[in-house]
Amino acid sequence: MGEVNHPLAHGDTIAAIATAAGPGGIGIIRISGPEAWRVGRRVFRPKYGRQYNPREILRKLVLGHAVDPVSGEHLDQVLAVFFQAPHSYTTENTVEIHSHAGPAVTARVLQAALAAGARLARPGEFTYRALMGGRLDLSAAEAVAQLIAARSTSEARLALAGLEGGLARQLKPVRQALLGAAAAVEAAVDFPDEVDDILTVELAEALAGRVIAPLEHLVQRATERRIWRQGAVVALVGRPNVGKSTLFNAVLGQHRAITSQTPGTTRDAIEEAALIGSVVCRLVDTAGLAQAGDHLENLSQEMTRQALSRADLVLLVLDGSAPLTAEDRQLMAETSRLKRVVAVNKSDLPSASPPWEAGTLEAGVAVSALTGSGMEELLAAVAEALTGGQPEPAAGEAVASARQGQALECCLKAARRAAVGLRRQDPQPELISLELAEALAALGEVDGQGAPEEVFEAVFSQFCLGK
Ligand code: GDP
Repeated sequence: MGEVNHPLAHGDTIAAIATAAGPGGIGIIRISGPEAWRVGRRVFRPKYGRQYNPREILRKLVLGHAVDPVSGEHLDQVLAVFFQAPHSYTTENTVEIHSHAGPAVTARVLQAALAAGARLARPGEFTYRALMGGRLDLSAAEAVAQLIAARSTSEARLALAGLEGGLARQLKPVRQALLGAAAAVEAAVDFPDEVDDILTVELAEALAGRVIAPLEHLVQRATERRIWRQGAVVALVGRPNVGKSTLFNAVLGQHRAITSQTPGTTRDAIEEAALIGSVVCRLVDTAGLAQAGDHLENLSQEMTRQALSRADLVLLVLDGSAPLTAEDRQLMAETSRLKRVVAVNKSDLPSASPPWEAGTLEAGVAVSALTGSGMEELLAAVAEALTGGQPEPAAGEAVASARQGQALECCLKAARRAAVGLRRQDPQPELISLELAEALAALGEVDGQGAPEEVFEAVFSQFCLGK
């Protein structure tokens, strides 16, 4: 047959259903690998011309039948398309069989491909091969995973921007600057007598301008934008009986948490999703941070702390009809460093006097969870605080995922330490060299250059079968 394989084609031939499970639409069985054409020819018979050379029908949808390779039984009328390495998604020889029958038939066509010599692909394996074939970089591969998992159009747009390699493109000069600095410092290790003050100052400046500044920008934006991509965790915090559960329900517009007149009855943290502004929020209603005492209350305090530690925003609820208590003050102090919005609840009741000591608290939003007055203002304040007043990201804007953001932050910190080391009176090239190596390793976790095995695994574990 004289099938040509791309030099990077490797391993065995894999097959999987590449479309989402479930009835309706078409199901695509994708076969990729050095034997893909051979497998394809065993399971696909074109309607016209029984003998065919895949090379002659490349990238054309050809009508025919999917057949059982052993019995020759027709499984379904299908369209098939052959791709030649490296001009396919995986960069390998690939065959796609488009079947329009239900999932049972699609599964039988896959079975046929397996019987014809392919192995079932692992999750993400097609994309992994695309990465290995140089078709995608790691951030693009991750974007594919995000695109598959995207739950909204704005998420999908963000993932698509990542897919177009925007992030990797922005990181290229950062990597080059780090490599340049690492090489210069390495030379200084080898030739210690020639270390020159001017050189170290220049290197520190290069790091500041070409590594630290752009990374700071990316990390900052990643945090802001992550909210659009993943939604935000909003924790409702307040002492018992200030009206957290009532407020929680008012936000959700439904009545799920049980409210009661007895303080401290809502002991479990309850979580629900709500759309605030245009941000998807996971609203967590925490039990009040009750004074230490019985076992359950310790548990609820622990839960409050946990909710606080992962919250993107704290909604601190106070009771405007009662004077501030020690507990209110404690919560105010505990949340003072977090991004927070203060709701002064029960505005339908006469307000307690003197209500709020001037200066100890930012202006709260007066609200009545019971009557709903002030709710719009409160939600607007939450949305504004979450997004920093920024509009939804535009299409084509590359944004780091949480994992990428963390790696970039590690890279940033190591680069900062290297710059500090370079500015010292007596720079120690060995130490600086280590910091730069650490920065490069962290960067590798995002652009995939020299990324360790675990990173690939972490990225590909997010995939579902057939991608
Ligand atoms: P939590 O312990 O902080 O969750 O407080 P709850 O939501 O259980 O509310 C405690 C009590 O305050 C209940 O009797 C609610 O009906 C009442 N409450 C909550 N919000 C308001 C409000 O805005 N106005 C008034 N008048 N009562 C409220």
